[in-house]
Amino acid sequence: MRYLSTRGGVEPIGFSQAVLMGLATDGGLLLPERFPQIDGPMLQRWAQLSFVDLAVAVMAPFIGDDLNAEELQRLVERAYASFSHPEVTPLVRVGDQQVLELFHGPTAAFKDVALQFLGQLFELLLERSDGRLNILGATSGDTGSAAIYGVRGQQRIDIFILHPHNRVSPIQERQMTTVLDANVHNIAIKGTFDDGQRIVKALFNDLEFKSEYALSAVNSINWARILAQVVYYFYAWGRVSGGDPGHRVSFSVPTGNFGDIFAGYVALRMGLPVERLILATNRNDILSRFVNTGLYQAREVHHTVSPSMDIQISSNFERYLYYLMDEDPAAVSSLMASMNTSGELRIPPHKLAEVAALFHAEAVSEEETLAQIRETYSAHGYILDPHTAVGVRAAHNHPGAICLATAHPAKFGDAVARAIGKEAEPPPSLQGLMEKETRCAILDADSAKVKAYMQQTLRERHG
Ligand SMILES: *Cc1c(COP(=O)(O)O)cnc(C)c1O
Repeated sequence: MRYLSTRGGVEPIGFSQAVLMGLATDGGLLLPERFPQIDGPMLQRWAQLSFVDLAVAVMAPFIGDDLNAEELQRLVERAYASFSHPEVTPLVRVGDQQVLELFHGPTAAFKDVALQFLGQLFELLLERSDGRLNILGATSGDTGSAAIYGVRGQQRIDIFILHPHNRVSPIQERQMTTVLDANVHNIAIKGTFDDGQRIVKALFNDLEFKSEYALSAVNSINWARILAQVVYYFYAWGRVSGGDPGHRVSFSVPTGNFGDIFAGYVALRMGLPVERLILATNRNDILSRFVNTGLYQAREVHHTVSPSMDIQISSNFERYLYYLMDEDPAAVSSLMASMNTSGELRIPPHKLAEVAALFHAEAVSEEETLAQIRETYSAHGYILDPHTAVGVRAAHNHPGAICLATAHPAKFGDAVARAIGKEAEPPPSLQGLMEKETRCAILDADSAKVKAYMQQTLRERHG
């Protein structure tokens, strides 16, 4: 399989190159040149597979010759061995809806599904090229710990994650700083999340530093992350349909960067019988406004009880735009240029019907989110985390919808306690965190200081 850029400026490349490139060199996003097609008999067979075997089946055609069958099987097995549930992503019936629990990984949020896979994949590709790389990122909470757990203990990768000192929740901080592997470097910045992002950006723009130290990001635009997320759409469908290709289902997806829901779109384009994709946002509603009006327009960010969806611009949206614009890179480039200069873009009016036929979008308020947690708990005894609650609320007119549960409720104890007066029982991965030993550097919010710290750390470790 070969990969192309949404902006048309990259010669077709293979899967491994696409993974290592991350963001396309022309500023666009990488996509496969076509979608493998899954017919009815194949869907029936896939519905019988375990999660790991299904993951191998879904991913293989996207990877082509870049990994052999054995390598892919081993990689997937390793990635999902860290999940505490035998089904990896079990489906649970809650009233007349189905909840797809994606939070049984080591950090209790769905980003583990992608990052456990990406970490193993990076290591394998680096072994082949006898290379090394250094991951650098800033986090406001969730992504940082999932990235750390994806690469902890690996030989060819060091990871540096910046978080704002004393400004992430105690659990989130401990999830990162209690990882003591020698290749993991937590840095608490005396400043805000925006300071952290600014520093990371400055270091990536320092091209000499970037290439000398093989700096890499693990942000949500990496194609391998999307690919890993396609798997659980097929898996969940198999559980409710019994493999009947005539059985269509809707999925409700709490959305921020459009990565998770785009994986659902890929599954649909491969032939999964999807009725609707329900796009659920919190108050930060750029995507739901887009689906309902065709105008994609950035506004200021509001802080909500579902903070992992507090985004202004969705980094994966351009991938969907590419298909909506009939795979025309010139049209995508011109829309993105308009986004850059004016902070908004509008699709041609005749395209809106196509969007509306596939997506149902809703923005869910803070009150509705907490009310949903309360209602689901009192009716069914099941505790939703605030992100999942946004998706469940948006699906209220779609009985039978599969609602993606993106975090364990114990991770967002304050919001849950506000809704139902108590916190959820933490899973084993979150227990005892406050008693564990930690390691973390505390630095000024200054890119030169962070750079010097990275250089010194890497010199000490690798000479
Ligand atoms: C990242 C995240 C989301 C949003 O996923 P996107 O792929 O960015 O749309 C939703 N819920 C939780 C808990 C997350 O961590």
